[in-house]
Amino acid sequence: MTPERNHIAIVGAGLAGALLAILLARKGWRVDVYEKRGDPRVRGYAGGRSINLALAERGRHALQQAGAEAAVMAHAVMMRGRMVHFTDGSQQLQRYGRDDSEVIWSVHRGDLNITLLDLAERAGAAVHFDRRLDSIDFDARRARFVDDRDDSACEVTFRTLVGADGAGSALRAAMQRETDLGERVETLDHSYKELEIPPTPDGGFRIEPNALHIWPRGDYMCIALPNDERTFTVTLFMPNHGSPGFDTVRTPADARALFARDFADALPLIPDLEADWARNPAGTLATLYLDRWHLDDRAVLIGDAAHAMVPFHGQGMNCAFEDCVALADRLEAEASPAEAFAAFAAERRPNAAAIQHMALENYREMRDRVDDADYLLQRQLELELQQRHPDRFVPHYAMVSFMHIPYAVALERSNLQHDILERATRGIRDPADVDRAALDADVRRQLPPLQEGAPP
Ligand SMILES: Cc1cc2nc3c(=O)[nH]c(=O)nc-3n(C[C@H](O)[C@H](O)[C@H](O)COP(=O)(O)OP(=O)(O)OC[C@H]3O[C@@H](n4cnc5c(N)ncnc54)[C@H](O)[C@@H]3O)c2cc1C
Repeated sequence: MTPERNHIAIVGAGLAGALLAILLARKGWRVDVYEKRGDPRVRGYAGGRSINLALAERGRHALQQAGAEAAVMAHAVMMRGRMVHFTDGSQQLQRYGRDDSEVIWSVHRGDLNITLLDLAERAGAAVHFDRRLDSIDFDARRARFVDDRDDSACEVTFRTLVGADGAGSALRAAMQRETDLGERVETLDHSYKELEIPPTPDGGFRIEPNALHIWPRGDYMCIALPNDERTFTVTLFMPNHGSPGFDTVRTPADARALFARDFADALPLIPDLEADWARNPAGTLATLYLDRWHLDDRAVLIGDAAHAMVPFHGQGMNCAFEDCVALADRLEAEASPAEAFAAFAAERRPNAAAIQHMALENYREMRDRVDDADYLLQRQLELELQQRHPDRFVPHYAMVSFMHIPYAVALERSNLQHDILERATRGIRDPADVDRAALDADVRRQLPPLQEGAPP
């Protein structure tokens, strides 16, 4: 039986799949979601990827459209800025924004996923767990799903499919067999490992809770994000090869020696370092580029399935959530799914490419620049210019994290602002020596006033 006109099948009930299901079900679509894993509310969350995530304004805005913001924010921990841990043991809080209205939030991936699944079901979506997409006959519009617990299979007839099945998308692979999507994957030669800082014996946070902690060490770094249950998830990012690198820091004892040498103030906070190191596999990092995100009216990709990125701007989920709102809006506005998918891809592809680029650039900034004098001088000037030209000069981080202007606009303006700051600080150490009149003139010449909703 062919499904009716407003039926949609979503592959993957992760973050993007669950949010899209809520948005479409609330608009009156009949939604079926197929997820390869078991129901996390029954079996516990088996995410296998980062334990917590930074939620920024873009993600919050999308959650708000789905009526999910209040439930998610009830368990989010505010992060006001980066707490930089220097090698001498000293610390410095570098605020992300001007005040507590400009912050980001740490959310637990498993809890977030469960909240979204509950809301999706409440909105009327049907979520089918233990259904791994295995193969598709696009001509017959039939998809085959397998239950990995007993290898049993079932076939489903679809009108149109949305691939929200993550970076290793099975739907993308099936589409690629049908048409050339122009796929290119750039793997970063760095990986990551997660460790945990438990609560204090009396149940408190061991370090400042309202910050994203960073231990920048040049070619490698640690970060720690707070969790609602008073723990921190620590992530070590390090090259695959080198000293240190995952090929030389291999055993739990090697890891302890690295921490004793380079992250001395973090080491006593991680009592189970050896066990965490042995248990948690090193995760790989890559950027996925596609020339095409859809196959006529039959399938479209969103989130990591379309544009996986490295995590250094904390925007992969935020971007995926923006995709969900854009796709739901296009499906409502356009006459057919084919037109909706084409319009969605035309709108989102340049923006995904922009944040992928900024995420790669931010890795260098986080691990190598946040403790450097030029950077700190430019940050100081940035905040000053923001005060003097609030409608024109909005710092890079604020455009990405506290606004929902298109990422492509944020990138273009960030590049102009970077050049303005470079020109103003060339050969200068003391902020008092900066020629303010020339700087103001440069800002007015280069940067037109910025408005939310500016075209990409
Ligand atoms: C270390 C790390 C840190 C990160 N930190 C942040 C951060 O701070 N902020 C941020 O915004 N983003 C962050 N991200 C990125 C974020 O995790 C992703 O962008 C986000 O999870 C994408 O959501 P998604 O729904 O597209 O994919 P996923 O979350 O991967 O969900 C895909 C779902 O599809 C299911 N699935 C897979 N294959 C199949 C199949 N064949 N059939 C059926 N179901 C299938 C999976 O089980 C899963 O449930 C981070 C990523 C990493 C790796």
